[in-house]
Amino acid sequence: MFILADEFVSRETTHIKMEKLSHCPVCENSSFRPFLQGYDFFLTQEEYSIVICNNCRMKYLNPRPDAREIGKYYESPDYVSHDAGQKNRLNFLYKLARNISIKKKYKLVKYYARRKRLLDIGCGTGEFIFFCKQKGFRVTGIEPGEKPRAFAQTAYNLDVHEEDYFENMTTQEFDVITLWHVLEHVHQLNERINKILEILNSDGSLIIAVPNCDSWDAGHYGKYWAAYDLPRHLYHFSQETMQILADKHGLKIEKVIPMKLDAYYISLLSEKYEKGKQNYFRAVMNGIRSNNSARRNNKNYSSLIYVMKKENN
Ligand SMILES: [Zn+2]
Repeated sequence: MFILADEFVSRETTHIKMEKLSHCPVCENSSFRPFLQGYDFFLTQEEYSIVICNNCRMKYLNPRPDAREIGKYYESPDYVSHDAGQKNRLNFLYKLARNISIKKKYKLVKYYARRKRLLDIGCGTGEFIFFCKQKGFRVTGIEPGEKPRAFAQTAYNLDVHEEDYFENMTTQEFDVITLWHVLEHVHQLNERINKILEILNSDGSLIIAVPNCDSWDAGHYGKYWAAYDLPRHLYHFSQETMQILADKHGLKIEKVIPMKLDAYYISLLSEKYEKGKQNYFRAVMNGIRSNNSARRNNKNYSSLIYVMKKENN
């Protein structure tokens, strides 16, 4: 299959501009085949295709909404990572899990940051960097969403900027740069990583958390797997493809750490997408099954954190 680069087509139903990728965003090979047809269960119910690279087995959304259009897919008030005021049950659980995970993330960042200078890309409403700031870190956040950015600035008085600011940064000044479930949303994947490497100290750490498409829950739920999150998730990384991406950018993966709570949250959402309602019991059971399976099977947890350093260090 070969498709011209930078070709744009209009989606007939919604008039969303779609971008067709001619190459694998990880290995640049131009050969790929269909992997899965799924839907935007969360917002539009539109159908999307994930393809798999014939060379490196990277799975990615193709075609995908153009970068200028993707904002429309984050507009629902339900999109929890971009919302601070909703009060439903799922959101309550989400926030509970978030508070637990903020502490876990902080411990990790603290371990790797020698000089307490942190950049969090895609910081959302800023709870994580606010926590780090209270612990003595000097923090900067990048958040493309206008509402969450404004919330982080006003509610927590944080130094949070839009993407343009990030693109214009030049000083190598950060000890740790974090992307918590963000890399899978980024259109300019390689350009963004290059910029990150420009502003990360030579002995600094890059911490990337992404869903794992080799997890038990991904296999179990198939097209209903909530972490496909079409079309907001553009890439579906495995440990294998993350290694290829790291090599490409001169990064070495120091450590791979599980995010065990994600198995429950993703199972709960996937149950909802598959059966139309939230089944807490089944979500807990499948969360346990996923984590148990990962323990035996190459640490393939629902989501993984990769700690990376520059090769030359
Ligand atoms: Zn590839």
